[in-house]
Amino acid sequence: MRISSACIYSLNIPFVESFRHSLHERNSSDSIVVKVATECGISGYGEGVPRSYVTGETRKTAVEHVRSELLPRILGAELEGIDPCCAFEYMHGLLPDSDAETGGAVVWNASRCAVELAVIDCLFRIRNASVAAILTPVSQNITYSAVIGANSIARTEKIAHNCKAAGFKYVKMKVSGDEDSERIAMVRKILGPSVSIRLDANGAFSLETARQFMASAEEFDIECIEQPVPRGNPIELATLRSSSPIPIMADESVVTILDAKELIQKKAVDYFNLRISKCGGLYRTLAIADLARFAGIGIQLGCQVGETAILSAAGRHLAAHLADLHFVEGSYGTHLLTEDIAEENIVFGAGGNAPILTGPGLGVTVREELVDKYAENIITVR
Ligand SMILES: [Mg+2]
Repeated sequence: MRISSACIYSLNIPFVESFRHSLHERNSSDSIVVKVATECGISGYGEGVPRSYVTGETRKTAVEHVRSELLPRILGAELEGIDPCCAFEYMHGLLPDSDAETGGAVVWNASRCAVELAVIDCLFRIRNASVAAILTPVSQNITYSAVIGANSIARTEKIAHNCKAAGFKYVKMKVSGDEDSERIAMVRKILGPSVSIRLDANGAFSLETARQFMASAEEFDIECIEQPVPRGNPIELATLRSSSPIPIMADESVVTILDAKELIQKKAVDYFNLRISKCGGLYRTLAIADLARFAGIGIQLGCQVGETAILSAAGRHLAAHLADLHFVEGSYGTHLLTEDIAEENIVFGAGGNAPILTGPGLGVTVREELVDKYAENIITVR
């Protein structure tokens, strides 16, 4: 059963409200969704979220890369005789590692992720089996974190009260260098001492301002701070870490396997934030998780702002599979999107809790009419 056609959708799903961090303010989802279909009509869906400030990809360049470079490698691929247990290795053979290994200006990880997930979803649907067959769950329930954007003090206060009422045990706050201390103090007071609070600066600080900020934030019992300084200088992160009262997490700094190895070698951080789209799909994310585990680095499984149920489902499987996760983000679905594209609603419930997924493929049924509805552009390749 061969892959006979593929579609690339450029989505634009409006947000319920805008989401802001120090690098960007966003009002709508801008994923690319890839659908692959076999000659027998079985299809699979994948998603990637290109970010110019993370992998160098834009939605336009990612669509073109998928069309011209990645789809020619998978169209015509025979899926029938592939052992699902070897699905990741099979995909790795179809989509070689060259771009991630060179660590060039553009790493096509969101593009690769969309294609990898689509083929894996299809491969498991052919057998009416769940991806959980290879991502064996070690947990039956995932506990997600709430995330508070870099909002005004009044807005932060309102969301913090909502987090408290919803019973979240983990909360992450975006910080931007603007009114941060007042916001953090207020959130800690509202949430009380038992809730874990993390910060994410998205590279907003210089080495010196990061030092000052972290010294001032220490009193609020902060679990860790994500990407205090911009990507590009692991020695700066290592310097900061050597005197930091707060553990440090790499996010924008850990995109490729080479990035991970360099951060480990320089003892630059305490945690990695791994995101499936940022890291180039499930296979590469697992590879970086293995490196982290071996080096004693903690792992957060993060997400992309505005991702749909496709990436959220992939994240759910990975979160259930990784035994030693410290924090999990994602599955925000219609908390952020005005409408999601799957039949199943997989948004987390009270306290951020959500069950594992057991349905065929990635475990969500994409509604094609909704993908069509929100697609600004559709490219079909045969
Ligand atoms: Mg981050």
